[in-house]
Amino acid sequence: MTGSARSYAASGVAPGQRIVSTYNAGPFVAGAALQAFERIGLVHIPVGTGNTDRLVRAVELLRPEAVVLTPSYAAYLAENFDLGGSSVERVLVAGEPGGGEPAFRGMLEEGWGAKVFEAMGIGDMGVSLWGECEEQDGMHLGARGFVHAELIDPETGAALPVEDGASGELVLTHLQHRAAPLLRFRTRDHVQVRTSPCACGRTAPRVRCIGRTDDMLIVRGVNVFPSAIREVVSAFAPDVSGHIRVKPEAPGVKQEPPLPVSVELGRDVADDGALAEAISERLRDVLVVRTRVELVPWGSLQRSEYKSQLVDR
Ligand SMILES: [Zn+2]
Repeated sequence: MTGSARSYAASGVAPGQRIVSTYNAGPFVAGAALQAFERIGLVHIPVGTGNTDRLVRAVELLRPEAVVLTPSYAAYLAENFDLGGSSVERVLVAGEPGGGEPAFRGMLEEGWGAKVFEAMGIGDMGVSLWGECEEQDGMHLGARGFVHAELIDPETGAALPVEDGASGELVLTHLQHRAAPLLRFRTRDHVQVRTSPCACGRTAPRVRCIGRTDDMLIVRGVNVFPSAIREVVSAFAPDVSGHIRVKPEAPGVKQEPPLPVSVELGRDVADDGALAEAISERLRDVLVVRTRVELVPWGSLQRSEYKSQLVDR
């Protein structure tokens, strides 16, 4: 709980401020989040998921300084409501990768007129173990002392050094948990580590979540994360909405190129004939993967009030 409080507090939320939460995960997650908010001294306004009207009304009437929700839901709200002038100064996103992708974050910050901070936890270990500080350069390990973090190669399981620039799957071990501690728990989160000094003064290592090991595809030997595809595609906004769907043709992880990707056009944007090719080329340059990009009209890919599905199986 102290670790969760530290992780949320890194964003700069301060005692006395109001925070609207959309946690809907039952007593373990929601209760732990509540305790963390109380520890910081925040006024917690729980709204839950799946009730957008109530959330928008809560923002209008109760004027919170912060909200906490999934990046998909934050994007959905920014797309459908005029939130730029709201009281919200900080949007805390958690629950899935995406909040750290620069183009996607830019869209959220513009839509909300607020700064976006990423937090990351795992239900089995703690509601929020990592939290971004006001430098917005990756999530600090807020639960240091309570949780030990390691990095492994997801394919071989071999330990990797936790050093600046290293990437791999995050493995966590409870250090102080009573009764049923988890030892070397594989999170399936694929992260990149930063250990360079942070201007905020925190010395805990930082991570940026690149994607879920579960979502990873291997296209002719190259590891490809759907969230990384979304990041590259999002840079084409406002010509694109930022919503994508990867449609693997073969079952399992290994795929043959070109990998089919549906990319949603921006609002009122028509296919000019060159965009799909430009996106495909950029994907090849950045991710070294050959794709077949299909442009689809604005609004045709399903939005989520919880977590986005990036892969169609
Ligand atoms: Zn920092």
